[in-house]
Amino acid sequence: MADLETHMSPFTAQTPATQTPTTLTIDGDAVTAEKTFDVINPATGETFATAPETTVEHVDAAFDAAARAFPDWRADEDARRATLRAMADAVDAAAGAVAPVLTAEQGKPLSESQRELRTAALWLRYYADLEREREVIRDDRDALVEVVRRPLGPVAAIAPWNFPITIGVAKVAPALRAGNTVVWKPSPFTPLSTLMLGEALRAVAPAGVLNVITGGGEIGAAMTAHPLTRKISFTGSTATGKKIAAAASADLKRLTLELGGNDAAIVLDDADPGRVAERLFATAFSNSGQVCVAPKRVYAARSVLPALVDALAERARAAKVGDGADPATELGPINNAPQRDRVAELVADALARGAVAAAGGKAIEGPGYFFEPTILTGVGDGVRIVDEEQFGPALPVIAFDDVEDALARANASTFGLGGSVWSGDADRATAVAARLESGMSWVNTHTALSAGQPFAGVKWSGLGVEGGLWGLDGFTDIKLIHRAR
Ligand code: NAD
Repeated sequence: MADLETHMSPFTAQTPATQTPTTLTIDGDAVTAEKTFDVINPATGETFATAPETTVEHVDAAFDAAARAFPDWRADEDARRATLRAMADAVDAAAGAVAPVLTAEQGKPLSESQRELRTAALWLRYYADLEREREVIRDDRDALVEVVRRPLGPVAAIAPWNFPITIGVAKVAPALRAGNTVVWKPSPFTPLSTLMLGEALRAVAPAGVLNVITGGGEIGAAMTAHPLTRKISFTGSTATGKKIAAAASADLKRLTLELGGNDAAIVLDDADPGRVAERLFATAFSNSGQVCVAPKRVYAARSVLPALVDALAERARAAKVGDGADPATELGPINNAPQRDRVAELVADALARGAVAAAGGKAIEGPGYFFEPTILTGVGDGVRIVDEEQFGPALPVIAFDDVEDALARANASTFGLGGSVWSGDADRATAVAARLESGMSWVNTHTALSAGQPFAGVKWSGLGVEGGLWGLDGFTDIKLIHRAR
């Protein structure tokens, strides 16, 4: 704790005042609400702004607008591409105003918020430019047979609080490019940055094509049950994902679910512990561990474990924890009090069961939802922080003697999002990585993502794919056209 206090920044927050109250975007209009709800800055634990509270009537109005806009929007692909490019420019133009608000409501360092906005513009340009080849599957004397992709209609895009903008735009961009219209809802913990983006995009997208509303579980449920919704694209917890799958079944709405993860990182006996620790720390503690596809449990060969733990602990103790608005901050707070409490509970449970904190181990006293960057050893499978998704700045490191055993333990999970294997011999590591039961496997890195590659979880980590052509296809149905000759 003493170490950490040294590294807690003395910076005092100047949270950005949102000059004018943010508005919902429905049918191209700025829409106000009768009620508002508080938005808390996790670095201070205090309310710094309010957001308009969406009603079920707003949900109806948003989907009505999306349905009305659909026929014209689906009709002209060139216009859609041009609009997506203009949207990317609008995101770039708004980034300076939105990034500090994203930091204030989410907690992440300002440079990370700026990066989120750049990434959002990149996704819009990527999908504007993506080429899809014509799919002729037969062309002979008797027939011309072709597969075409058709948009679905109004899409419900529902995002979590860890990357409100990137995750939202990663749905909006392919959905719109494919010819659908969208109703986008961020998490009630981080509503403002998305509302501000809606305001910036209002001038660019035709009315009704992109609607932005707020709300929590009830409004999310109203979106997923809405009779006009043809597709739900959801990122969030596995528990909510299962409820959404049940809601979608009533009228067979199309579904993409990007859910929780408990990624294993397997460090083989020939890995360089210092190099591995540097990269493992960067990926496991990025966004203060609040990343779906981050390393969340490390299985290390017994021979490299002590050096690896030492290097990780040293890195954790050196990390600058503080308000994301402070340029010196490396790790911000946990986004909200319930999540901070959950991380604290999982770490305390591990310590009570004999784990040793090589670094950190508890919440940081004072205002805000800060937690010491924590490295745990002496912990194993069957302990909650190993078996469950912690989603915070605490990483357990577990010893193994046999690679087959490590693989079996990594795979003994209902989650299957990502995973990684670390070794001086990339081929050896790749052979192990290929056997991880995960939608994504990395070698000597983790969480390496790009718009053009598939992002997908197996088992309870998801259903369907985002990114690349796979992500575009997820917003379409297939249609066969067979022309006899
Ligand atoms: P959450 O499931 O609590 O909420 C996500 C969103 O769903 C929010 O906008 C929320 O308001 C809404 N919601 C809640 N109940 C709903 C319902 N019944 N119907 C429709 N919508 C509803 O998740 P969270 O706590 O915001 O996010 C953290 C979780 O998200 C973690 O488990 C993390 O792993 C996961 N996540 C996954 C990915 C991925 O791509 N696989 C990415 C980021 C986060």
